[in-house]
Amino acid sequence: MKKVLITGAAGFLGSHLCDRFIKEGFHVIAMDNLITGRLSNIEHLFPLKNFEFYHHDVSKFIHVPGNLDYILHFASPASPIDYLKIPIQTLKVGSLGIHNCLGLAKAKNARVLIASTSEVYGDPTVHPQTEDYWGNVNPIGPRGVYDEAKRFQEAMTMAYHTFHGLETRIVRIFNTYGPRMRLNDGRVLPAFIGQALRGEDLTVFGDGSQTRSFCYVDDLVEGIYRLLLSSYVYPVNIGNPSEITIKEFAEEIIKLTGTKQKVIYKNLPQDDPKQRQPDITKAKEILNWEPKVDRAEGLKKTYEYFCSLSKEELNKKEHFDFEKYTLR
Ligand code: UDP
Repeated sequence: MKKVLITGAAGFLGSHLCDRFIKEGFHVIAMDNLITGRLSNIEHLFPLKNFEFYHHDVSKFIHVPGNLDYILHFASPASPIDYLKIPIQTLKVGSLGIHNCLGLAKAKNARVLIASTSEVYGDPTVHPQTEDYWGNVNPIGPRGVYDEAKRFQEAMTMAYHTFHGLETRIVRIFNTYGPRMRLNDGRVLPAFIGQALRGEDLTVFGDGSQTRSFCYVDDLVEGIYRLLLSSYVYPVNIGNPSEITIKEFAEEIIKLTGTKQKVIYKNLPQDDPKQRQPDITKAKEILNWEPKVDRAEGLKKTYEYFCSLSKEELNKKEHFDFEKYTLR
């Protein structure tokens, strides 16, 4: 039985990856320090013999007994609120964390796949974003802790590949959504659905003309699985090219939830990318992959998940002052 270590396993993406690798017959070692991840995302796997959970911070030395075939490094805060609240941990998990993962992979002769992000492109001046675009990132802005950690992570991963001959894969993940997103992580989809369910107005930042392209989590997991098993070592964009403005997105959520609330406008956070859309030519060619789930279907499934949450969870609001980080 092949063994895979998944860091950030209790998070949104990590937990879906655990499910997928269990389904594919792997032995899964799940690792998480539970700062932003939640055990409830993976507790259904605990009874399984081929599933283990290590409560560990990957920024510290990682010990895993026995052999290991694959490592997927998905540990990281991944929403603007999270990395503004815990900037140092965000930098550490992308730098010390990846170093530990790569060192472990070298010791075990395992293949590593790292979760990179469209944030490496920053506020892009090339549209749609192709993998050969180097990006437009402000290193000292509020997003810098995340963007630069991820850029460092890519550099470190390529260095282990070229210098040590390690088997490495890099996925650049664009905005992804689906069940198990944290309701209060500040990302736009849980923010809008949470507001609709609580009977609050939907907060659009700026004038809502900024765009994003949202990919359903099952499609993303399929792309990652294919990339891991491929022989391609350079970064590959995985995302859904269907682009939408945030204002239109708010209107879609209003329609989906049937809320009587309206859209209200707040200041745009600093360095908020104006447009984002993946060019997925590479993924199509190399992995024979493209997204299958359209937004209407994906949003319906995601909404059902949020509707199943308890009232208590729905009303648990984390306060974060985005205005503090807004251009004046
Ligand atoms: N956004 C918004 N209202 C919210 C939360 C986010 O208008 O309550 C906007 C945010 O400014 C950004 C977009 O939605 O332009 C996507 O934000 P998210 O935090 O989900 O991810 P990002 O792609 O910016 O990392």
